[in-house]
Amino acid sequence: MLKNNTVYETEITDYTADGMGIAHADGCAVFIPNAIAGERVRISIVHAGKNKAIGKIEDILERSPHRIVRDCPWAKICGGCDFRHMDYAEELRLKAQRVRDALARLGGWDPGELPIAGAKRLTGYRNKAIFPMGMYKGKADAGFYRARTHDLIPADHCLLQNDAANAARQAVVDFVRENHVRVYDEGTNAGLLRHIFVRTADATGQVMVCLIANGDRLPKEQELCKLLRDRVPTLASVILCTNTRPGNAIMGEKFRTLWGADAIEDELCGLRFRLSPRSFYQVNHAQAEVLYEKARTFAGLTKSDTVLDLYCGTGTITLHLARDAGQAVGVELVDAAIADAKQNAVRNGIDNARFFCADAGQAAQKLLDEGLRPDVVVVDPPRKGLAPDVVETIARMNPDRVVYVSCDPATLARDVARFRASGYAPQRAECVDLFPRCAHVESVVLMSRAGL
Ligand code: SAH
Repeated sequence: MLKNNTVYETEITDYTADGMGIAHADGCAVFIPNAIAGERVRISIVHAGKNKAIGKIEDILERSPHRIVRDCPWAKICGGCDFRHMDYAEELRLKAQRVRDALARLGGWDPGELPIAGAKRLTGYRNKAIFPMGMYKGKADAGFYRARTHDLIPADHCLLQNDAANAARQAVVDFVRENHVRVYDEGTNAGLLRHIFVRTADATGQVMVCLIANGDRLPKEQELCKLLRDRVPTLASVILCTNTRPGNAIMGEKFRTLWGADAIEDELCGLRFRLSPRSFYQVNHAQAEVLYEKARTFAGLTKSDTVLDLYCGTGTITLHLARDAGQAVGVELVDAAIADAKQNAVRNGIDNARFFCADAGQAAQKLLDEGLRPDVVVVDPPRKGLAPDVVETIARMNPDRVVYVSCDPATLARDVARFRASGYAPQRAECVDLFPRCAHVESVVLMSRAGL
């Protein structure tokens, strides 16, 4: 076993799923933040575990040509970005490689070198910001957490966020300080303001600020709304969300509109979408369009086809595909998202889409029992992927094709293996980068019934 503080010279050979460099020392794997494959480095061990260790770069002995100077003053300590130290070419290469490796190792299918659609915008691309509030150097503040901790970093101008999000954050911090509003303390479950959630609709410019509080009301609510309106010119909605439970869940169950609309509207793939605070919405507008277009190409629908979209959120993919299909069915667990999806169908004059609020596996089983036989099934699950019963039920529906949109290569690959065992063969895979500078990567895999 390695010992803390020991120094080694070693080479970075690969990356972990969360973007750390991998090296070996005395036969042990060492994970090293801010490292680039191919570099020779001198490292010290900062945390020695049984089978793996965390290291820190002391010296770069041979620099990668992909190394760049970090352009954010917080980058070294902030847990937000993983890749501010490397150029975008290397970031894209490692992301595509990670998806390929997962599919080959865990999915039993090597797709070859995978294409990856890189983003045009590397800064200010996020349409959603969640700033935790807390104390920093004795003052109320908001920002991000230091990597792997809940220590607040008052990142006052995050490079991934747009101007509206950064301005809303500053307005709330100024208001809280001016009015001596207590920010929430996780240790004691005391204090009021917990998080600032800002969502921007790129196409319409509308901004929603949702304040998450450990209580039902804020002092001087309308003064705060006025300040936000002054600082964020396209503000459309201010909402108070009450969350009094201790723990890591950000959102609570209760919402009250303090000013403006209950939801904002965006345009995506030529369709208009209503977005309420609890609905999932992809954080990168331009790249979400690229991703949905790939899903549409892979689905290859015709006007006589039925498509089932499991994990449909506000119906973004369902409605995009409904235009190509005979009928479309969307299933989603969050009732607010399904309410948005139904309104979104009406808003866009789409009358061949139906939506159900249910667990994907249970809904698929019910639809199968009712005789639904979709030609294409699209799934876009959260990171944990599909429960085994979902794969089985989809296979029993016997669709020609399954299009799997994934935000986690490891669970995607596990599920591809399950689909293969159920008679579906992977045909194509592509990656889309929705999260420049961060380790997450989206991918789409097309599978078809063996023999087709
Ligand atoms: N396809 C949508 C949403 C994808 S995110 C889009 O691109 O916008 C995954 C969605 O799955 C979330 O909306 C989440 O609420 C939903 N979800 C999570 N668990 C679920 C389950 N067991 N059954 C159905 N939906 C679920």
